[in-house]
Amino acid sequence: MTRILTGDRPTGPLHLGHYFGTLHNRVRLQNEGAEVVLVIADYQVITDRDLADDLLGHTERLVLDYLAAGIDPARTTVFTHSAVPALNQLLLPFLSLVSVAELGRNPTVKDEIAHSRQSAVSGLMYTYPAHQAADILFCKPDLVPVGQDQAPHLEVTRTIARRFNDRYGHVFPEPEILLSDTPLLLGTDGTKMSKSRGNAIPLGATPDETAAVIRRATTDPDRRITYEPDTRPHVANLLRLAALCQDRDPYEIATEIGDGGAAALKRHVTDAVNTFLAPMRARRAEYARDLSYVREVLREGNKRANAIAEATLDEVRAAMGGFR
Ligand code: ATP
Ligand code: MG
Repeated sequence: MTRILTGDRPTGPLHLGHYFGTLHNRVRLQNEGAEVVLVIADYQVITDRDLADDLLGHTERLVLDYLAAGIDPARTTVFTHSAVPALNQLLLPFLSLVSVAELGRNPTVKDEIAHSRQSAVSGLMYTYPAHQAADILFCKPDLVPVGQDQAPHLEVTRTIARRFNDRYGHVFPEPEILLSDTPLLLGTDGTKMSKSRGNAIPLGATPDETAAVIRRATTDPDRRITYEPDTRPHVANLLRLAALCQDRDPYEIATEIGDGGAAALKRHVTDAVNTFLAPMRARRAEYARDLSYVREVLREGNKRANAIAEATLDEVRAAMGGFR
């Protein structure tokens, strides 16, 4: 059976970038019979901020977003990596397999440092791709469905797996990256849609909140709406959002809006997004009525993840020799 590992940081509500970038692939693979493991990377919250604010609340809301999008806990394991000590122990040998220069060259780490809310860039910022290798390799997955920003990290993971195997004998697979058709959805300001950048459309927002975010989106003064990603990136991004939600061609939507200007464009996008998300939001509201189910999903997922991690750590120690 194919095993899939991927996950998110509990830093805020999941948004359309997550949905089209990775979440819909997770649900599809789960429904096709793959074994899916989802890590909620809570320790990684403190890579780019001083405090992990409302960690439990963010974690529970993340699970609500998963359930609303169609993740089924009977088939998919959802766990928090801080609850799995054996997974975290993999970080030590893994860090010994990458050089300081390699950690410093990572383009995603550089981008995240530029957007960091931390008072000073911490060592964890540089080493978290190795921690992520532990999050991934502990369950020996075949496939990792993620957004474009994760591609350099997956290379670190594959390098660590290869070097570990070369040095100590074969233990780990080299998991493949699975990019969706939308590996980088931009937010309302034209940069990567991100939980932390105030430019995202959350899956669980109300229709009014959604309208307010889209109203603030950057556009341009040209009243005629055209789909020209190279010369009109902001307008093109809004058209792409609507096209994804309606499963339509962005050129066709642009022609339909014609010379209605930014206001008509934003109305169209708001309707498209709200219509698309309505069923997910209804399911989310149902699950939100009783959080004890969400907590049970996490308890069960942590138990399963601990069993997998302990077995892998045993293998790692045996391969390395003399460790206990
Ligand atoms: P943060 O700002 O806290 O880092 P984030 O929005 O980047 O939040 P993560 O938890 O870091 O979200 O990412 C979770 C997964 O979602 C990763 O696989 C990432 O590649 C994917 N992802 C996040 N944002 C986007 C996006 N805008 N387009 C496509 N994929 C995305
Ligand atoms: Mg991120």
